[in-house]
Amino acid sequence: MLRVAAQIIDGKALAQEIRAELREQAAALQAKGVRPGLSVFLVGDDPASALYVKNKHRACESVGVFSEEHRLPVTVSQDELINLVLAANFNPSIHGILVQLPLPNHIDKRAIIETIAAEKDVDGFHPYNMGGLLQGNPRAVACTPKGVVKMIESTGMSIAVKRAVVVGRSQIVGKPAAMLLLERHATVTICHSRTQDLAGRCREADILVVAAGKAKMIDAAMVKPGAVVIDVGMNLVDTGFVGDVDFETVSKVAGWISPVPGGVGPMTIAMLLENTVEATVRAAK
Ligand code: NDP
Repeated sequence: MLRVAAQIIDGKALAQEIRAELREQAAALQAKGVRPGLSVFLVGDDPASALYVKNKHRACESVGVFSEEHRLPVTVSQDELINLVLAANFNPSIHGILVQLPLPNHIDKRAIIETIAAEKDVDGFHPYNMGGLLQGNPRAVACTPKGVVKMIESTGMSIAVKRAVVVGRSQIVGKPAAMLLLERHATVTICHSRTQDLAGRCREADILVVAAGKAKMIDAAMVKPGAVVIDVGMNLVDTGFVGDVDFETVSKVAGWISPVPGGVGPMTIAMLLENTVEATVRAAK
C-alpha cells in the first residue's frame, strides 16, 4: 500500500502568526491608553515552572503585553497567596492573572483558582469559565485546548460531523478539549486510564487528540489513515522531550500531525497572550 507522509501542523509558525495579530491589537489598545497587563504568580523553585514562567514573560514582551512576576517562597501560606491574588484582582492595570501550577501541597489549588476574578482568569480554570464552556457559552477558554482546536482548524478540515477521540480527561486539557470539539459538532469520545480497547477507540478517530502524559503511547496501529493527530504530551526522556504519539510511525499513517516540540507548546503560550488581550478588550469596554 502506498503510504504518503502526513502534513505537519506547525504550531510554532501558527503561533507566530497569532502573535503578530496580537501585537497589532495590543498596539491599538495602547494608542487608547490601555496597556494589557498580566500578573504571574510562581510559588517555589521548581525549574520547569520557572522556565515556563520565563517563556511566558518573554512572549508577553514580544507582543507588547506588560507582565509582572510574583516569585514566592515555597513556604508562602495560602492566606498570603490569596491576599496577593486579591490585590491583583483590584489592580486596574492588570487584566490577566495566572498562578503557575503545580502549587505546594499545603496550598489548596482550588481555593486559589476560585480567588482569581473570573474576568481576569486567563488560564480559563475558574469554575465560572469552565461552566461557561460546558454551557456552550465560553469566555476565557483554557489555553492548551483552545490552541489544539485552532491547530485542527488550521488544516482546513471541518470539525463538524467528524469522529473525535480525546485521550485524557484532565481539567486543563482533556475535558475542555472534548467540550470545544463537541461545541463544533464533532461526535466526541473521551478516553482515560480505564478505557477498554483504547486502540480500537483511537482507530475510530478522524480527529485524535492525545493528552495522557505517556511517552509515545500512540503508535501507527492505533491511528486511522488520514486522521488529524494532535499530540499534547510533553514527556522528558533521555533524548529530550517527546510527545504521547510515536511521531516516526504515526506520521506515515496520519493525514496531519503536530510535532513535539514545536506543536501544541507554542500555541499554548499564544493562547495565553490572546486570552490576556481579550480580557483587556472586555475590561476596556
Ligand atoms: P494529567 O496527568 O492531569 O491527565 C492525564 C490523563 O491521561 C488522565 O485523564 C489519565 O486518565 C489519562 N491517561 C493516563 N494514562 C493513560 C493510558 N495509558 N491510557 C489512557 N489514558 C491515560 O495530564 P495533563 O492533562 O495535565 O497533561 C497531559 C500531557 O500533556 C502531559 O504530558 C503534559 O506535560 C502535557 N501538557 C502539555 C502542554 C503544552 O502546552 N504542550 C500543556 C498541558 C499539558 P485517568 O483520568 O483515568 O487517570
